Amino acid sequence: MNIHEYQAKALLRQYGVPVSDGRVVLRAEEAKTAAGELDGPLWVVKAQIHAGGRGKGHFVEPEAGEKGGVRLARSVEEADQFARQMLGRTLVTIQTGPAGKQVNRIYIEDGSDIARELYLAILIDRQSSRISFVASTEGGMSIEDVAHDTPEKIVSFSVDPASGLSDFHGRRVAFALGLEGAQVKQCVALVKNLYRLFVEKDMDMLEINPLVVMTDGNLKCLDAKMGFDGNALYRHADIAALRDESEEDPKELAASKFDLNYIALDGEIGCMVNGAGLAMATMDIIKLYGAEPANFLDVGGGATKEKVTEAFKIITSDPNVKGILVNIFGGIMRCDIIAEGVLAAVKEVGLKVPLVVRLEGTNVDLGKKIINESGLNVIAADNLSDAAQKIVKAVKG
Ligand code: GDP
Ligand code: MG
Repeated sequence: MNIHEYQAKALLRQYGVPVSDGRVVLRAEEAKTAAGELDGPLWVVKAQIHAGGRGKGHFVEPEAGEKGGVRLARSVEEADQFARQMLGRTLVTIQTGPAGKQVNRIYIEDGSDIARELYLAILIDRQSSRISFVASTEGGMSIEDVAHDTPEKIVSFSVDPASGLSDFHGRRVAFALGLEGAQVKQCVALVKNLYRLFVEKDMDMLEINPLVVMTDGNLKCLDAKMGFDGNALYRHADIAALRDESEEDPKELAASKFDLNYIALDGEIGCMVNGAGLAMATMDIIKLYGAEPANFLDVGGGATKEKVTEAFKIITSDPNVKGILVNIFGGIMRCDIIAEGVLAAVKEVGLKVPLVVRLEGTNVDLGKKIINESGLNVIAADNLSDAAQKIVKAVKG
């Protein structure tokens, strides 16, 4: 789960990490007061969406003005004007995709005078199964280009979980960032606090870009992106409360409420499968026969009729879906129960696209019989390959 920059900065503040003073604005009327509470003479007006690249982004609506989603204002009036221009408009960045995201919250921050922009991130490195630091002197809005063109300018190392973090790691970051004197001490403290926050809150990603050296020589975090492990949210009520459902794919949101593992994709064939491995194999074989999956969906081992119905609703609500493939292996679940669940779902939500059902396992004959005798326009398949070919043929002709 991701959170907004202003929420991330509140957490950083709690953990003693230096950030600017700021105010969040939800309605245009609040902007002027919010800006007036900050010292100036520089204000940074920042669109809050769950995507980076805002500074270089652009708005769909001309009323939002020419500048991107991060604007420097020289007066309270200008900050107010920028906030009003951005609120409710659609911001397109390299990370949002061409449709962009609606800006419903603005963060107004006390502006900093920047000497250097650096990059610092903490991630879970799946290869080493450890927490890793990533640091670069080339922070700011072009870090993607740096990673691509000059990867040697990005330093990374992991932390041994047995010995944990020590000052040495902080000094290593400081060295990688070219820091000197008192900045090294600040960096050691910063790294310690960020690491503690990362571990205590079960994060899977923490990115500070830019971490800046200000003209007075001090360090400060000017941007913050945080991701949290969804499986650990149950023990962090404070973090779970920061969830902004308007930022999430509505289909994925509905799926999470019914405990379905669903990820929306761009293809045309909706998939309903039990088990993550079978779901991936199903996606592979759809591609093998020349089509693209519209989603990953694992209904789980103990799929009930209600879950199957809900999964159907989610799949059919996707306008890109031109056909549905149900591929269930009845192990603990019996195939006849699955067949009844599928039919009930079809009856409830209707069916406007071809549906291929492949069942295997316990009570498979009864399951197939139920489907064949249902009178509904369902195509039965014998095996995975047969099923994939049938649905691709039904969709593509
Ligand atoms: P992003 O584009 O979504 O990553 O948004 P950031 O919060 O990183 O802001 C983009 C850029 O705006 C930064 O790289 C800075 O160059 C600039 N910026 C952000 N905050 C300040 C500030 O307080 N003072 C100044 N001078 N520039 C800022
Ligand atoms: Mg940034």
